[in-house]
Amino acid sequence: MKKKTAGIHHITAIVENPKENIAFYLEVLGLRLVKKTVNFDDPGTYHLYFGDREGSPGTIMTFFPWNEARKGRTGSGQVETTVFAVPSGSLAFWKERLTAFGVEVENVGRYSEAYLRFQDPHGLHLELTERPLNRNSSPTVPEAYAIQGFAGAVLNSGAPHYTADLLEQVMGMNYVGQEGTYLRFQAEASVGNTVDISTAPVPRGELGTGTVHHIAFRAQDDADQLEWQQHMKVHGYAPTEVKDRDYFKAIYFRERGGLLFEIATDPPGFTRDEPLEQLGQELKLPEWLEPRRKQIEASLEPVNALE
Ligand code: ZN
Repeated sequence: MKKKTAGIHHITAIVENPKENIAFYLEVLGLRLVKKTVNFDDPGTYHLYFGDREGSPGTIMTFFPWNEARKGRTGSGQVETTVFAVPSGSLAFWKERLTAFGVEVENVGRYSEAYLRFQDPHGLHLELTERPLNRNSSPTVPEAYAIQGFAGAVLNSGAPHYTADLLEQVMGMNYVGQEGTYLRFQAEASVGNTVDISTAPVPRGELGTGTVHHIAFRAQDDADQLEWQQHMKVHGYAPTEVKDRDYFKAIYFRERGGLLFEIATDPPGFTRDEPLEQLGQELKLPEWLEPRRKQIEASLEPVNALE
């Protein structure tokens, strides 16, 4: 059986304060808060989803904000950098904007592309790069410069050649080539389609604030996901059972380089429980947590999309 992912579905990271998280991703980067819910495995904590206007797969950055969590360290077995795509010709705007917000930026290059490298308020590694896309608007940034979704991600693998083999042979991405210490892989979606593996040896990452928890790749629907689950088993991986995350279904597996991978379905998406115009405004809970809503709300620091 040949399988092919369309690209990245979402990336989930651990941060500190939820208000600071919203202030940065909504007000500075101009993403839309598309869902305010809780961590289904730990309902005393938020799970905040940001994305394009619709919360399309390939644009979704999600966060577990944990005020008390210890600081992590990005390293091997983790996503090294999350890369967002901005329209062609807009990097200069972003350099100025980020600097005006007090964010330190650095210019770097890979594969003949220019990148702006910076960190979010909690130390998460981010980059912006230009892509010929003009498919999204933003609540806070002029449309000509709005983030379009992910360009992709850089992975720090503890076993780069196994991870490369997984992306190309098992997940059906195209190998673009090697440049310096990078290996590049490409999928067919218009956003979230580029994955670079950094082969430079680095110390093992430590999970905590300012680090990515996992990266999710796309399955077309429930049936396709069951095929993926079987496919991963055939290739020697140990995927979990299917978990219902309300806005998509998920399976997880640990790859050989130490990264936690997820495969998530495109449907049903974020309009499942609130209309497009109102995404992210109310605290949404899965049905099985509704009976505990009062208790859960009391344990969360109130945050608003427009604060
Ligand atoms: Zn996930």
